[in-house]
Formats: sequence, C-alpha cells, structure tokens
Amino acid sequence: LVPRLEPFTSTIFAEMTALATRTGAVNLGQGFPDTDGPPSMLAAAQRAIADGVNQYPPGPGRPELRAAIAAQRERYGTSFDPDTEVLVTVGATEAVAASMLALVEPGDEVVLFEPYYDSYAASVALAGATRRVVPLVEAEDGRFAVDLDALAAAIGPRTRAILVNSPHNPTGTVFNRAELAGIAALCVEHDLVAVTDEVYESLTYDGVEHVPLGSLPGMAERTVTISSAGKMFNCTGWKIGWACGPAELVSAVKAAKQFMTFVGGAPFQPAVAHALTHESAWVGGLRADLEAKRDRLSAGLAAAGFGVRRSAGTYFVCADVRPLGFADGAELCWRLPELIGVAAVPVQGFTDDPGPWRHVVRFAFCKRDEVIDEAVTRLHRLV
Ligand code: PMP
Ligand code: GLN
Repeated sequence: LVPRLEPFTSTIFAEMTALATRTGAVNLGQGFPDTDGPPSMLAAAQRAIADGVNQYPPGPGRPELRAAIAAQRERYGTSFDPDTEVLVTVGATEAVAASMLALVEPGDEVVLFEPYYDSYAASVALAGATRRVVPLVEAEDGRFAVDLDALAAAIGPRTRAILVNSPHNPTGTVFNRAELAGIAALCVEHDLVAVTDEVYESLTYDGVEHVPLGSLPGMAERTVTISSAGKMFNCTGWKIGWACGPAELVSAVKAAKQFMTFVGGAPFQPAVAHALTHESAWVGGLRADLEAKRDRLSAGLAAAGFGVRRSAGTYFVCADVRPLGFADGAELCWRLPELIGVAAVPVQGFTDDPGPWRHVVRFAFCKRDEVIDEAVTRLHRLV
C-alpha cells in the first residue's frame, strides 16, 4: 500500500459494525436504516429487473433519473440542465472521490470541516492533495458552529477546493444562512471550487431549513452539489448518487468517474427516478419519523446520564460521556458492546485533532423504536 493511503486501511464504521455483530450488540454505530423505502420504489426496481434493465446504463446516468434529479433540485431555486449538468454516480461516495480526482492536483490543498466524514480525507489523499482541517466549535446552545475566522485562516495560496457537508455527519448540525454566506464569500474571494455533500438534505428537524451552498450568489458556477438516494429513500445499499453543477465541472467529474466504475445500478436508476418524482410525501413522513426518533434517543441518552448535544438533522446525535465518569469516547466505544451490548461511534474517529472531541460519541437514531428503546435500556446499566 502506498504510504499516503496507509491511514485508511479500515473505517471506523466497519470496525464498530464488526464488533457489534461479534458481540450481538444493538448497533447504533453505523448509520443505516432498518426499514425499507417506499414500496412503489421497491416495486419499480423489481419491474426494471424483470423488464431487462440489466445492462450498462448511459455514462451520465439514465435520462429519466437525470431529469428527476434536476426537477428535485428546483425546490432550492437552482436549475440544472439534465443533459450536461447532472451526473449519476455510485453513491455520494464516488461523487466525492471523483470530484477530488477531477478537480484537485497533487500538492493542492482542500479544506474540510472537522469532524469530517471519513471518505473525505481518503478522497483528498487519493488525489495526492493535502487536507486543511477547520474544527467546528461547540456553541452555547449545544450546536456545533462554523468558525469563519478559522476558515479564512486555513485558506492559503495552494487551496483549491472546500468540501462542505450539511446537514453534517456526525454532529447533526445544519449550517445556517450566515455560515453558508460566509463560506460562499471566501470561496468567491479566493476562487475556490466548493464540493457539497448534501446526502441528508431531506432530513432536517424542528423546521430547520436545508440551504444548498450552490444556491447562494456567486456559487452556482463554482459548486459541485452532491447528494444520494440512500438517505432520502432508505436504500443505502443501492448506491445511487449524483453530482450537479456547471457543465464544465460536471464533465470533469465524469471524466474521473468513468474510469472508476464507468456506470452502476442500472435497475435502481428508474426506481430512484420514480421515487424522486412521486414519493416526496413519503420522504416528508420519513423526516417526521426521524425527528421523533431523534427526540426518543436524545431523551433516552439524557435519562441515562449522557450530556446530549442538539441535532437538527441527519441520522445522528452526539453525546458527552464525561457526566457518566468516562474521559475518552473511543475507549468507551471499544468496551461498550461487551459491557452492555450497545455499539456507538467515537467522534474522534472523524478528526485529525481528537482533543476537543475526545469525550464525544455519536449515536444513530435511524432505527426502529424498539431497537432505540432496547439500546436505551442497556445504556442505563452504565451507571
Ligand atoms: N456522505 C455522508 C456525510 C454520509 O454520512 C454518507 C454515509 N451514508 C455518505 C456520504 C455516503 O453516501 P453514499 O452511500 O450515497 O455513497
Ligand atoms: N454514512 C454512514 C455513517 O456515517 C455509514 C457509511 C459507511 O459505513 N461507510 O455511519
């Protein structure tokens, strides 16, 4: 293995899920739902297989899916030409990796907010670039906020791109308009490309609004907007994602993508197109369900003694383990499955500098109520 990939031999999600499986623990570590997506979408995929949609789809993705993606993005006031400005990928993960490979040169710098989703650091390394990490800071209201001064300080002459994930995994923060406007101003000032990971775009709670960075003034021409069907329609294993942006950027991403996987997921593409077009009410129901699950798990964690932080989106809530007498979240997460039969993920696994995050653990609430309740019952045994 080349040295630049040595830090990436395994992922914290795979390790924790393996530990959960080995010990029979309730898995609130890896974020994936334990119920299926809309029945009409599942039927559409089955129909597509029966109808012979089983060979290579077109390079940019099937036309009906690209049209459905462009139509779905109109809710944000953004418009994309399905023929030149939308690319279907093998999940958001491939779109992020292909964006880095296509848009960043070896030696360039890419700015990430910390904690960051693990694939970002690996994708930056695959491209031979260097990451510059800007920590989110915990605000008084328990939200993790963007420090625009720290961001400005992290941008230098070699900075080429910034990767922005909102709603944010693992903190559940949804970047607000002021934060996004500040990021946008810096992108324009320093002529940066923005790559946004919006896979949790439909999962925001308490009326908090998701604002795509690419919808802000001056950003359309410099933003690759990435999302995926996995979190929108409970189909994380289908790996249907997409990248939208100006034709020049999207064709660059396609140049890299076509030599990574070429294409993928033929029969799932018409099914996701169907869901994007006809199942927005189902997604609204999912959002309401997950908001209730966020409340259920947050209350349970608080009752068990954790210092629960505020989550306004995603599948995740973060909790401080210090009130329970533990200093290190990673140590606790490694012991938790054996100790009480629950798996969670230490947030320091998403950081370069674990310091400020050492005591923070991420729990996933995208699970059936009885699974959340069983985990909470077990977590009460910690005290
Ligand atoms: N980005 C974030 C922030 C995620 O949490 C995940 C994991 N679900 C992904 C990307 C991966 O998305 P996909 O499965 O579409 O590749
Ligand atoms: N995105 C999911 C999480 O954050 C899991 C993805 C993965 O296992 N790579 O838990």
